[in-house]
Amino acid sequence: MSTNSKTTKTNNSIVRTRFAPSPTGYLHIGGLRTACYAYLFAKKHGGKFILRIEDTDLERKVAGAEEVIYNTLKQAGLHYDEGPDVGGEYGPYIQSERKASYGQYAQQLVKNGGAYPCFCSVERLEKMREGGATKYDKHCLKLSKDEVAKRLANGEPHVIRQNIPQTGTTEYADLVFGTITIDNDELEDGVLIKSDGMPTYNFANVIDDYLMGINYVMRGTEYLSSTPKYNHIYDGLGLEKPQYIHMQPIMRDSKHKLSKRDGDASFDDFVKSGYLPDAILNYIILLGWSPKSNDEKFTLKQAEEMFTVEGLSKSPSIFDLEKLKWLNAQYIKELSEEEFYKLATPFLNSLEHIKDLDKKYLCTLLQSRCSIIRDVVELCDFIKAFDNFDLNLFISEKWKTDITVAKAMLPPLLKELTAKVDMEELSNLSEIIEGFAIANGYKKGQVLLVFRLALTGSLVTPGGAHEMAKLLGTEVMLSRLATVIQRL
Ligand code: GLU
Repeated sequence: MSTNSKTTKTNNSIVRTRFAPSPTGYLHIGGLRTACYAYLFAKKHGGKFILRIEDTDLERKVAGAEEVIYNTLKQAGLHYDEGPDVGGEYGPYIQSERKASYGQYAQQLVKNGGAYPCFCSVERLEKMREGGATKYDKHCLKLSKDEVAKRLANGEPHVIRQNIPQTGTTEYADLVFGTITIDNDELEDGVLIKSDGMPTYNFANVIDDYLMGINYVMRGTEYLSSTPKYNHIYDGLGLEKPQYIHMQPIMRDSKHKLSKRDGDASFDDFVKSGYLPDAILNYIILLGWSPKSNDEKFTLKQAEEMFTVEGLSKSPSIFDLEKLKWLNAQYIKELSEEEFYKLATPFLNSLEHIKDLDKKYLCTLLQSRCSIIRDVVELCDFIKAFDNFDLNLFISEKWKTDITVAKAMLPPLLKELTAKVDMEELSNLSEIIEGFAIANGYKKGQVLLVFRLALTGSLVTPGGAHEMAKLLGTEVMLSRLATVIQRL
């Protein structure tokens, strides 16, 4: 196969793209990205985006995979535009329900010489391969018309194979990779219709793309070299060919494709651990496509306006979890307090040690510190620190404090707070601490540090002294100070 860059003219009819997943596993990130690009390209041009479930390989169908596809697309906001009427709603096109139309076109192709019935047994095919053949030897193409008619009339099991010329080359234009040229002898007379009458992908994709008026086929580069076979089918049936846009895969590293089977997370897994659908979508759109501007954060709607085929990458992209986390953190910061609280609640509810805290207030402290929602779990660990208080924490070179300083500072501070603090709102806490520091010759930062450590037993807290006091409540604040004083 050789490629040579050349831009192809786009035609003027309404753009129709499709996402055509096979329900043979769970929808992986690469599949979802293909759907995004097909969706964006259609929307950018005011066109239609179609969903087609390619389930003709019934043996490889995985229970539940179809539902995951629907749910993921819905959650991602990639709504498809057409399909059969299912109770007043669009249903997606399902290939296994469209068997009759493929048979008709296959017969036509046989008539036109682009395909032929093949009666070879599995044993013969195996023997042929064992003998070193790398592809089917066109044995049944040599049968006489009469013999074929007789065997068909006898109801002999057979498949329909594509008849591909064995000499010359086939050329087509891909909008990303330019001209693709394949030697015809690299192509096999593959099966188009199986003996049970079901089409293979190789045939069904062509017939459906034609019947559904798809004029831009967007799919992974693994189909770059088989596309000439599909073009022979279009030509054999006298059908207009679509334009092709092939996309490079997403890789886990320089050698391996991202794959759910090898443990890489799916969209669903990411959502469950607290990535926001909009952030995931934003990130995967960037993985393999670059906007003209340097702006890396955008909504699906904005991407619709910006999307261009020219921005699609010619080389594979490597999935960078840290970058996704970084982007996700930006999206989390933009959530309203209410939205963040709602998303964090299932994680917070599972934590016994924070059951007495005001979770709404806690969330306002955690929101800006999360890269993913699940981070709230770890961020709440500081609450456990008080039970294993380590007095050495009071030693700070920067603030010139140690256990002796804490021992001297905390009892009068507790006294002052007990006497003066606004028990309801803690509104005068800063004022008291400031006054206390001045009156006793401490720096304010020194007091704030010792006070915060005494309240939490932790150097790392999602907020300063005032916030920790507010989170714990006045009573707990005073009783914790008393506990620490006793231990000093
Ligand atoms: N069913 C194929 C797949 O999941 C789709 C390829 C195509 O888009 O034509 O890989």
